[in-house]
Amino acid sequence: MRQKIVAGNWKMNKTLEEGLTLTSELTNMAGDEVRSGVQVVLCTPFIHLAAVGKLIKSYSHFALGAQNCHQQVSGAYTGEISAPMLQSIGVNYVILGHSERRQYFNEGNDLLRQKVDQVLAHGMRPIFCCGETLEQREQGIHLDFVTNQLSESLFHLDNEAIGRVVIAYEPIWAIGTGKTASTAQAQEMHALLRKHLAGKYGQVANSISILYGGSVNAGNAKELFACPDVDGGLVGGASLKSREFTDIIKSI
Ligand code: PEP
Repeated sequence: MRQKIVAGNWKMNKTLEEGLTLTSELTNMAGDEVRSGVQVVLCTPFIHLAAVGKLIKSYSHFALGAQNCHQQVSGAYTGEISAPMLQSIGVNYVILGHSERRQYFNEGNDLLRQKVDQVLAHGMRPIFCCGETLEQREQGIHLDFVTNQLSESLFHLDNEAIGRVVIAYEPIWAIGTGKTASTAQAQEMHALLRKHLAGKYGQVANSISILYGGSVNAGNAKELFACPDVDGGLVGGASLKSREFTDIIKSI
C-alpha cells in the first residue's frame, strides 16, 4: 500500500514563536487519532526547523520538511542552505520545484535534477512539485508539460532512488487562488503521472505517493483524497491554521 502523506507548506509565514505555537496545537489535536500509516510533514521556514523538530520528535507520524535546498554541498553561496545542513538537524523531506521557486527564482528542470540528487544523497526524501499554468491547460498541452517535468528532473534516477521520491501535482492556477482542481482533473493527472512512471520504472510506480496541491481545505480534502491515485495533499494556506489542518489530516 502506498504511504498517505499530508504535508503543510508554511511558505514564508510565522515567526518562530507563532510556528512553535502552531506545532504544539497540531500535536495536541492530531497527536494520536491520526489513521495509522498517515505521515504528516511540517515544511517550515529554515529557521523553525530545529525547534519544530524537537517538538514533534515523540510523535512518530509527524515528520520535518524543508522548503528548498541548494544544489551544492557547501561553498561560497551566501544565504543558502545545503542538504547536509538539513540532514544534520533531522530533516526528513525537502520540497523541491515548488511553482513559486520555479517562477520567482528561475528554477528549471536541470537545476531541480541536481537538487533532487543532493536531497537523496543525504538520506532525505524530495517532495517534487510539478504542475501547469492555466494557459497551458487551456492550450491542451498540460499533460505533456507535466510529464516532461518528471522526465527531465527525475528519470535519471534508478529504481531504488525513485522509490524514495514523493511527487506533488500542483496546478499553478489552483495554488493560493481558492480554485481547486476537480476530482476528475486531479485523478486524470495523477493516473497519467503514475502511468508515465510505470513506463520507466514498472511496478515501482505503484509504490510512489503522488500528492495533490492547490487550495486544499477542510471542505474539499475528503473527496480529493478519495481519488484512487491521490495519496494525500500538499497544503499551503490551510496548513497555517491548526483546526483546519487537523481536519484535513483527519479526512484522509
Ligand atoms: C502550496 O503552496 O503548495 C499550495 C498548495 O498552496 P495553497 O494550498 O494555499 O493553494
